[in-house]
Amino acid sequence: MQLTNRKKVIEQKPMTFAERIYFPAIVKGLRITLRHFFKKIPTIKYPEEIRPYSKNFRGQHSLKRDEEGRERCTACGLCALSCPAEAITMTAAERKKGEEHLYREEKYASVYEINMLRCIFCGLCEEACPKEAIYLDGPHVTADYLRKDFIYGKDKLVEPTFDITKLKS
Ligand code: SF4
Ligand code: SF4
Repeated sequence: MQLTNRKKVIEQKPMTFAERIYFPAIVKGLRITLRHFFKKIPTIKYPEEIRPYSKNFRGQHSLKRDEEGRERCTACGLCALSCPAEAITMTAAERKKGEEHLYREEKYASVYEINMLRCIFCGLCEEACPKEAIYLDGPHVTADYLRKDFIYGKDKLVEPTFDITKLKS
């Protein structure tokens, strides 16, 4: 039974002499190939040549520290809520006495993970963060072999600490 009238009957015409010897088709193909010899090559010899990055480039996330080197993230979860790919997970913890130099606020993320295989680098987590704690200003996420190695934890995401005394000297 025919459900639509979109069916097309293809007519199988007998081949002409020119079609049977393939010569015109070969000439046509060669003409296209030759034309490409004189065109500007759109590809580059990576990694010897590198194209400049766009100003809007979004790379790997980094969890920022404040000017005193303390982690800015307060584990509020807004980044995870705004993530359309559900790539962010975290565990919140209370700051203990004596940890004021490590975490800026009373709550911090003891675990913060991003699944880089899910992330689409949309930047919504960066926009949602009220503490300016997360930015996609890192390099490319590099290739790897195992899925588990694409779950980036705090060891890869938190900015390295810096010695402020060295900056002053
Ligand atoms: S960049 Fe987009 S997809 Fe990636 S973690 Fe942030 S919100 Fe999710
Ligand atoms: S990175 Fe920002 S939005 Fe995400 S949990 Fe930390 S403070 Fe909240």
